[in-house]
Amino acid sequence: MSTYRELLQRTKNEISEVDATEAKGLDDALWIDVREQDEWQEGHLPGAIHIPRGYLESRIEAAAPDRAQQIVLYCAAANRSAFAAKSLVELGYENVHSLAGGFTDWKRNGLEIVMPRTLSPEKRTRYSRHLLIPEIGEEGQLKLLDAKILLIGAGGLGSPASLYLAAAGIGTLGIVDADIVDETNLQRQIAHSLDTLGTPKVDSAKRSIEALNPDVNVITYRERLTSENIDRILDDGWDIIVDGADNFPTRYLVNDASVWRGIPVVHGSIYRFEGQVTVFKPHEGPCYRCLYPSPPPPELAPSCSEGGVLGVLPGIVGTLQTNEALKLAAEIGDPLVGRLLLFDALTTDFTEVKIRRNPDCPVCGEHPTVTEYIDYVEFCTR
Ligand SMILES: [Zn+2]
Repeated sequence: MSTYRELLQRTKNEISEVDATEAKGLDDALWIDVREQDEWQEGHLPGAIHIPRGYLESRIEAAAPDRAQQIVLYCAAANRSAFAAKSLVELGYENVHSLAGGFTDWKRNGLEIVMPRTLSPEKRTRYSRHLLIPEIGEEGQLKLLDAKILLIGAGGLGSPASLYLAAAGIGTLGIVDADIVDETNLQRQIAHSLDTLGTPKVDSAKRSIEALNPDVNVITYRERLTSENIDRILDDGWDIIVDGADNFPTRYLVNDASVWRGIPVVHGSIYRFEGQVTVFKPHEGPCYRCLYPSPPPPELAPSCSEGGVLGVLPGIVGTLQTNEALKLAAEIGDPLVGRLLLFDALTTDFTEVKIRRNPDCPVCGEHPTVTEYIDYVEFCTR
């Protein structure tokens, strides 16, 4: 049997302890703060990530998949970090160091520290189910609150997307839609209700969002997207576009603008029982024109008269779009870039098709031929 002091001394003898100068000299080291939440909130080292000691073993593989990664652990006084280092060595990490003197000495020596932004107690409660997921946590929630997402359309796809993005705490939501709420919308467009019949969809959606989450700043554009207004709307600085447009002139406008401005577009479309979702991330994956360089000839054009759709289908596709948008905003997971997800509601089948960039794409290709907006006239077959 040994005392705490003896155990600590023995542990320190077994691990690598480095001082601040040596630690700073390590190439691409991952700095991990293993203190508790309240200690972290009172200041931490620049560039460090926070994994409390109690979660270190369970979370380290997500934070450092490479066992050869240089890792510097620190706590307040280099005791907890010594035990933490020993655990990581036992997990097979080859280059683990404990920072001698810990945060206390670092601060005493006048080295730079960072005061983290934190969530208010109200926000900690509202978003607690996000905070409990290590991949999101407080840092991820702050990214969501900082994010600005533009929804094209407040209809079938835009309704579920706007509500779930708002519930998740996306700080700024823009909504572009020129239409008025009518009775035929209520079979699927859940952001609207009997109370808002006859009012603009953007106002109706804004009301629903504000009733759900007052943290969200809603910016409405009661207009149809055209070459005339698209730059004005995008100048408001959107990080991500969720495209719920039901017509190809809008899709081409959104696509061309997003490629030129480098804004990822989460694309969704629905027809009767079939849905499609993908992410067009400029220059990393294909864009809409890589797949469809120009609109279809009139004889192949889709019908402009409203098609029928199973009421829940836009809910499924719109929430899949929301999932992609939230991952992009929180910078986690693998978005559907270069992958087209097809959904069949009748058979409940999901199919994924690889889609590739077209080097001859008229917008994102090597020799672009489309360099200014084109207002395609929507033509109909019936
Ligand atoms: Zn392209």
